[in-house]
Amino acid sequence: MPASAKSVPPEKTTSPPAAAPAAPGAGLSAVQRALRKLGLVRDIDFALYLPMRYEDETRIVRLADTRDGDMAQVEGVVTECEVVFRPRRQLIATIDDGSDTCQLRFFNFYPSQQKQLAVGARVRVRGEMRGGFVGRQMMHPTVKAAGTALPQALTPVYSTIAGLPQPVLRREVRSGLARAVLDETIPVQIGWRGAWDLRSSLTFLHYPTPDVAMATLEDHSHPAWQRIKAEELLAQQLSQLQARLERAAQRAPMLPSSAEPQASSLHAQLLAVLPFGLTGAQQRVGEEITRDLGREIPMHRLLQGDVGSGKTVVAALAAARCIDAGFQCALMAPTEILAAQHFGKLVGWLDPLLAERGLRVAWLTGSQKKKERDAMSAAVESGEAALVIGTHAVISEKVRFKNLALAIIDEQHRFGVAQRLALRGKAVGHLEPHLLMMSATPIPRTLAMSYYADLDVSTLDELPPGRTPIVTKLVADHRREEVIDRIQAQIAQGRQVYWVCPLIEESEAVDLRNATETRDELADALGAAVNVGLLHSRMPTAEKQAVMAAFTANEIQVLVSTTVIEVGVDVPNASLMVIEHAERFGLSQLHQLRGRVGRGAAASACVLLYAPGDSGRVGEAARARLKAMAETSDGFEIARRDLEIRGPGEFLGARQSGAPLLRFADLSTDTMLLDWARELAPLMLDKHPDLAQRHIDRWLGTKAEYLKA
Ligand code: ADP
Ligand code: MG
Repeated sequence: MPASAKSVPPEKTTSPPAAAPAAPGAGLSAVQRALRKLGLVRDIDFALYLPMRYEDETRIVRLADTRDGDMAQVEGVVTECEVVFRPRRQLIATIDDGSDTCQLRFFNFYPSQQKQLAVGARVRVRGEMRGGFVGRQMMHPTVKAAGTALPQALTPVYSTIAGLPQPVLRREVRSGLARAVLDETIPVQIGWRGAWDLRSSLTFLHYPTPDVAMATLEDHSHPAWQRIKAEELLAQQLSQLQARLERAAQRAPMLPSSAEPQASSLHAQLLAVLPFGLTGAQQRVGEEITRDLGREIPMHRLLQGDVGSGKTVVAALAAARCIDAGFQCALMAPTEILAAQHFGKLVGWLDPLLAERGLRVAWLTGSQKKKERDAMSAAVESGEAALVIGTHAVISEKVRFKNLALAIIDEQHRFGVAQRLALRGKAVGHLEPHLLMMSATPIPRTLAMSYYADLDVSTLDELPPGRTPIVTKLVADHRREEVIDRIQAQIAQGRQVYWVCPLIEESEAVDLRNATETRDELADALGAAVNVGLLHSRMPTAEKQAVMAAFTANEIQVLVSTTVIEVGVDVPNASLMVIEHAERFGLSQLHQLRGRVGRGAAASACVLLYAPGDSGRVGEAARARLKAMAETSDGFEIARRDLEIRGPGEFLGARQSGAPLLRFADLSTDTMLLDWARELAPLMLDKHPDLAQRHIDRWLGTKAEYLKA
């Protein structure tokens, strides 16, 4: 627990006072709560909370030597100080250091500041210098009494949040660093060859000496940074390796595929009824999965593949292997619509084959009627339901499996770590189920290795043949009429259209109104012969399913929807996708949406309607997204650009933030350090397991727990 701000003598500063004390009853003070939000709990957390930049308060400069834009610290005598009210209330003071004068301006100020700036007082002032010719000026500089000793080191500036003023955070970090136990965990014999140890590196990075080459701090190339990054990478390697070893010690049901291909196996029969042959990629990935399932170590595999690459078939084939071995398989999707689609498709393929064996597919969702759910649950418990499909209800309900051996999670980024953990509890006896996670947001290999710690990764890098590429057009939204013409033309050819409305408000009611209005407008514009449907997340599930069924049957030609169709929906006859306010969507989301068309043989198009906006231009990031969409339809390239635009934290989403993203090291550039850590980790776990554990705890703390998911 960090010391409260009270135990540290307050620093003299003109910054606003610390946030108000905690509400009565709350165990933590406001400051402690804010610190906790930043992940600052243990002493070591503070020690490892490194500055994002520094201020140089070690020198006093002459006013006459400063230039416009300089951060400058000067000392002088206050010659004037008054509060003026025009054009608005402000405090204006002037200081003189003998070389020149400078005006100080404050729009928000405390009486204490006014007192500090009494005429005749000698003050030390720090801020950004403005002007020069007409007179120097500083807005809201920090002011201290003059004459105190200058610090020997640069002053750290930490990234902070509301309720946690920089000086308070600075004090907390200083005392946390002072208390932290920083003994070496990297054994000397096999360890780090550099001169900087952990303690000296951290101390230096919090308080560097002013002679340091600032660029080496900024680009993390300074030897102290190298040491810290090496430590971090080592922690990551160690925890991954440990998770792998732990999993290797667990047991899963072995699901061997029979040596000779048996025509009577469900797997072979499914292959035979598929209306197409597998792509090379599907075959390869299928073999990777088969190999995993045949082992007694639980599979943890991520299957990534672009939208439309055919992940569902791969999943179905894996399920068939599992069922052939006499076990149950669960398939989960993040939404009911998506789960329903899987169900429909898999049932079509598998149900007749399962029926011959006295088995069936079961369906489980939260919105199911109790009677139906009870019947399904009974089928799951008896083992009659060899395949169970649904939303997370499959794991969150009180469903007992007879012998679950394989769990497949579609669109796994929508599932949290907790849900993955809950799945583990569904296994039989001491056995863990095999786990196959599917994702349509491919991420670069190095990132996958780091982020999905303990997962093996398979990639479908080939689309089924016969797809015509989707043409993507950017259209300013005042040209809506042309889009209506396009829609007419598609419908005249018997094709169908998606029209996606953006989430405009936090409120679903407003979104619903918007979507409803759009539906009415389109219905008006397209005439009575065209059916325009509406799909919105607020609608009852039964109604949603009815609309989807009508769209699938081409009873509805234009489907207006909010982003509920984002993932996985598969209606091959739809050939045009219009996305309204495309500038408001994320890149991966746009790509997912676009993937709803181009699923059949017809030439497909995606129209991105954008509002040029008040300023006449959309933001820079939004423009980069739209440009990427127009330039490429390759999901891997999209993912690469998305990562570039957003950075890994945001790209991967907060949902999974349990897994440790690297804070300091960069996998793509710190390759030498990564190699070092990779080599050392197994040695250390083997020869110095205690040190290894301490190292992991120090760096990952409680987060390490998540990696075992
Ligand atoms: P995703 O990877 O986005 O989940 P799906 O599994 O929904 O993709 O497959 C997209 C479409 O391609 C489906 O209609 C599916 O039946 C079809 N498909 C899958 N594999 C093949 C293949 N090898 N050849 C032709 N069509 C395929
Ligand atoms: Mg899919």
